[in-house]
Amino acid sequence: MLKAVLEAKVKLMSRTFPLEKIRNIGIIAHIDAGKTTATEMMLHHTGRTYKIGSVDEGTAVMDWMQQERERGITITSAATTCHWREHRINIIDTPGHVDFTAEVERSLRVLDGGVVIFDGVAGVEAQSEAVWRQADKYGVARICFINKMDRIGADFQHTLTMINERLRVKALPVQLPLGSEKDFRGIIDLVENRVVVFQDDPNSTSVKEGETVLAKHRQAFIENLAELDEQIMLLYLDGQDISASQIKAAIRRLTVSNCVVPVLCGSALRDRGIQLLIEAIVDYLPSPLDIPPVSATDPRHGKEILRLVSDDEPFAALAFKTVSDPFMGRLVYLRVYSGRIKAGAQVLNSSIDKKERLGKLYVMHADHREEIDHTDTGSIVASLGLRLTSTGDTICEPARPVLFEPIRFAEPVLSMAVEAKSKVEQDKLDDSLAKLTMEDPTFKVHHDRETGQTLISGMGELHLEVLMERILREYGVRVNAGKPQVAYKETITIPVESEGKFIRQSGGRGQYGHVWLRLEPGERGSGFEFRDQIRSGAIPKGFTPSVEAGAKSALQSGGLAGYPVIDVKVALYDGSFHEVDSSDIAFRMAAFMAMRDGIHKAKPVILEPIMEVEISTPSEFLGDIIGDLNSRRAHIEGIESRDEVSTVRCRVPLAETFGFAGDLRSVSQGRASYTMCFHRYEELPQNLADQIVAKAGRTR
Ligand code: GDP
Repeated sequence: MLKAVLEAKVKLMSRTFPLEKIRNIGIIAHIDAGKTTATEMMLHHTGRTYKIGSVDEGTAVMDWMQQERERGITITSAATTCHWREHRINIIDTPGHVDFTAEVERSLRVLDGGVVIFDGVAGVEAQSEAVWRQADKYGVARICFINKMDRIGADFQHTLTMINERLRVKALPVQLPLGSEKDFRGIIDLVENRVVVFQDDPNSTSVKEGETVLAKHRQAFIENLAELDEQIMLLYLDGQDISASQIKAAIRRLTVSNCVVPVLCGSALRDRGIQLLIEAIVDYLPSPLDIPPVSATDPRHGKEILRLVSDDEPFAALAFKTVSDPFMGRLVYLRVYSGRIKAGAQVLNSSIDKKERLGKLYVMHADHREEIDHTDTGSIVASLGLRLTSTGDTICEPARPVLFEPIRFAEPVLSMAVEAKSKVEQDKLDDSLAKLTMEDPTFKVHHDRETGQTLISGMGELHLEVLMERILREYGVRVNAGKPQVAYKETITIPVESEGKFIRQSGGRGQYGHVWLRLEPGERGSGFEFRDQIRSGAIPKGFTPSVEAGAKSALQSGGLAGYPVIDVKVALYDGSFHEVDSSDIAFRMAAFMAMRDGIHKAKPVILEPIMEVEISTPSEFLGDIIGDLNSRRAHIEGIESRDEVSTVRCRVPLAETFGFAGDLRSVSQGRASYTMCFHRYEELPQNLADQIVAKAGRTR
């Protein structure tokens, strides 16, 4: 009996899918490079309706895409699961726009590998470079796909050189295009040593032409690989035949260890090279087993622990995306790093130290969702029912708590007042704003009690515009928005010591709190740091948290113009207490007063958000654009020109970027494009700071 129960349990909890056959990947691309088209094509090929084996590259594809759109293909899902050659590929959505840096970081955290798509005409664009660096930071293994080989101006070699030089990687072309532009007829597969021709008549001259190119490049390809991989080197030196599977294994080793980046080519729009791309994902990109164990801390004592990639470890997962699905409700996407768990189980959200139920679990496919009763290591699943868990939180087995490094999100830099166009829509607006803040950690909502206004804040004008658009489209609320306001901050510039006393002795029980704080400027971006340096017992340790809380609350109201104070180090080093009258609240008040005085004495200054901007423009408009940038207090970092196209990188204060999109459009006749993301806070020039302080004085 017991044996039967155990067997049933084991069966119930047996792995859903072999770990080594899972690929958790993201498709990363500059906007317009073809990410959507390529993803759709991949889902088409891996879909259940697709007949594997028919190498029908290029026919009737457009019709199919139109139909799929009408049927509501859900490729915009945060993660879509598909299958190929007995492998499970989880495609995790990555945004195409670097304005949403938080989104990019969030998705890179949970990927094991990435497919980076380039436009074969434009090559490596500035934005791709930024995302490439972020992927480097997380050690994400990558393959490149040079897309749009059918377009006029497509240049495989040039893009390859740019990948090598601008991205500073060892790019390993595993394919070559046979022809390009209108003449793009096939792919020379250096690994399988074959020519894939797109046309129906494989006996045409294309095959012969392809074989000539293959013969010319294959030897160099093998030699190149032998230099990089010892096993291939030994086979090569022995003069042995090297099989395609040996070559693939070598490329896999080199890719997984981030030594090379295999480069493929094709045309997503014409469905060329897509099957080979899926093959490469399976062949070269890592499985969860190829990734080092994740390091985490035990929240009970802060010690580091390693979680092995294994079902036998305790369950631990990272919530990497929360979405309010209009039909299903609140979905939390999870990446399971270790262990396994049943749907409906109780879990601990160790980020907020609260328990809750996991609810239902789903695997999201392109055209349907599949409810599952449990999930295991390496999986990407969506859960329905987690109410408290937000993006970036760790959830784990309650008895074996673990905390992954939180995903760091920048503080919003821009805010604006919003109200519903009609009174009846106000509740709906509040509801939609609450849902959007749960989804997006860089979007905040604040209700100002004094003015009754609702203020929303985010990472830039475009970010807020996109969110306004979603409120209209998804929640049907029409919104009036005020002018965007820059989120200034303040900081101190010199170290000071400051005393705070809160002593009341008016009958009954009195109040007694007395502290000495040392305030010092912190590094930019360091936030608020607090240390208790009392050695003498001048203040009992039990009051320290109240002192910290009081000091922190004083940061909110600023010293000059009322903006929040950031980057301050505070040390509690002296003070006194009273046996009877001292209380938490008295120390809180004393610390608040010490901080407020201290900030005033420490020569506070105003900080403004600085944005990193990259502009790509036909060179003829460069002069006018630079002129416009100069009028915006921009700091030009560099200008690169190639083939009549110039790229300008600069830093511009956020306050000067309003209306930039429109001005750029008019000076360049709509032909320049730009990207903008938050860089850091910097001190505001004195004359502007004076104006802000004067204005704040008037309104206070
Ligand atoms: P995304 O912004 O990266 O998702 O790019 P899309 O997939 O939306 O593609 C941007 C534009 O490029 C669309 O008009 C596509 O039809 C087009 N496109 C995508 N792939 C190709 C390709 O292989 N060849 C050509 N000529 N156009 C393509």
